[in-house]
Amino acid sequence: MSTKVQPLTASPAAQPAATTLTNEEILRYSRHLIMPEVGMEGQLKLKNAKVLLIGTGGLGAPLGLYLAAAGVGRLGLVDFDVVDFTNLQRQIAFGTSDVGKSKAQAARARLSDLNPDIQIEAFETQLTSANALELFKDFDIIVDGTDNFPTRYLVNDACILLGKPNVYGSIFRFEGQITVFGMPDGPCYRCLYPEPPPPGLVPSCAEGGVLGVLPGIVGSIQAMETIKLIIGRGDSLVGRLLLFDALGMKFRELKLRKNPNCPMCGEQRTINQLIDYYEFCGVRGEEAPGPNVQVPEIAPKELKSRLDRGDDLYILDVREPHEYQICNLNGHLIPLGELPRRVHELDSSREIVAHCRSGKRSAEAVDFLRKAGFRKILNLKGGILAWSDEVDPTVPKY
Ligand code: ZN
Repeated sequence: MSTKVQPLTASPAAQPAATTLTNEEILRYSRHLIMPEVGMEGQLKLKNAKVLLIGTGGLGAPLGLYLAAAGVGRLGLVDFDVVDFTNLQRQIAFGTSDVGKSKAQAARARLSDLNPDIQIEAFETQLTSANALELFKDFDIIVDGTDNFPTRYLVNDACILLGKPNVYGSIFRFEGQITVFGMPDGPCYRCLYPEPPPPGLVPSCAEGGVLGVLPGIVGSIQAMETIKLIIGRGDSLVGRLLLFDALGMKFRELKLRKNPNCPMCGEQRTINQLIDYYEFCGVRGEEAPGPNVQVPEIAPKELKSRLDRGDDLYILDVREPHEYQICNLNGHLIPLGELPRRVHELDSSREIVAHCRSGKRSAEAVDFLRKAGFRKILNLKGGILAWSDEVDPTVPKY
């Protein structure tokens, strides 16, 4: 069932609604204005709209660019992160000169250049249970451009509590999902996923990888849905989950139904306030450094001096073969997922140092091997990234 888009009413705290466009705006938006489906009426709705983007990364880039270009009058950008060199492969609102800058500020600068007529606010903060309701209350539509479960549940719950639409998108490797949650007749994220997946089961973009164009496509669809909600045209994705398979180049859709027993939007709401979403999802903050599992470690410099001394150390690389091709420490390669059935390849009498890219997967490997009876096993602290920083800068970081 597709749902006709209902125009949104402005929030009560709004400034007086704009009723005219300047001549310059008329010129800027002429390709909208000459379409009767948008026209002056639709463009004024865009001008009076207030949209909050959660995240200015891969999804946030096309979202911000298209919403700013379309003339959404007030855009809020929430991001606490800084631009990293590895972001540039997909986060196309940023340039090389932005590396090291605040993402929210860099995105604001880019979008202001694109459209100086709109109001853009940068919130350099992590969205939390403590600030979400305050941040959301002045905006009409919330667009979720994040890639972690705690934030996804937090955005969902805050939107339901405030009665605001949540334009949802997610990506993983070559697949994307898009829908609109939080509309009166439609389901919410908890109708679909009442409980988060077990921690560690779903890798982030950093661990799982993502083809750079994919967030561009998914974020663009989110931008389209946002604009349709604002101008009140077309059939929205409320009640439909659009699935995009980039490798097969196929779109499918799943019908989504509101769950009458949903703890958030069901008939008997059992959740009436925001909770601790990191605890709920069983994970520490995405940005929390170090492994989730506490295991014996060795620092890169110590490993280097022991290898130089000629100590008998067996290097176990638990990354994937394509990562081994990027760079390696001449270790024996057994990807983490294959470790349980290939454990016989390892000699438990020798001292083993396990490593991966960042030290997280290898911590799991060390934990697994210790439980399997290995006693002389250490995790390379910080993985190949730390090795590159502290021992051998010729080893590329990725
Ligand atoms: Zn629900």
